[in-house]
Amino acid sequence: MVGTIEHATLVCQRCGLSTTHELAYAGRLLVSSTCQECGHTIERDVRDQYVADLRHRMASKPRRMLRRFRRRPWSYAWSLPKAAAAKPLGVLRELRLVARAASDVQRREEPNRKDDEES
Ligand SMILES: [Zn+2]
Repeated sequence: MVGTIEHATLVCQRCGLSTTHELAYAGRLLVSSTCQECGHTIERDVRDQYVADLRHRMASKPRRMLRRFRRRPWSYAWSLPKAAAAKPLGVLRELRLVARAASDVQRREEPNRKDDEES
């Protein structure tokens, strides 16, 4: 599962209605949720969790690969070049998603911090 978009019906914080929300996931982590009615977006800074999750996925990969290889060696061997090429692109997409959400969260938080210092 890489950079996946899913849809769910949730109550929007802004319009207060039950609407379809677009949920963006990086791996297993929910990065952002967007109301399809009013466009209200909630983003989460998941950089730390994402790095930890990625490390976990990388660490468990050899065992997963070995299991798949044992089950169906030929189909696994055939799928290798394609899978190897698709992986970095998927991770790259996830990283971009995580980075964008994190910088948006920071941008929103920084003006507040300045206000706190002034008052
Ligand atoms: Zn809404």
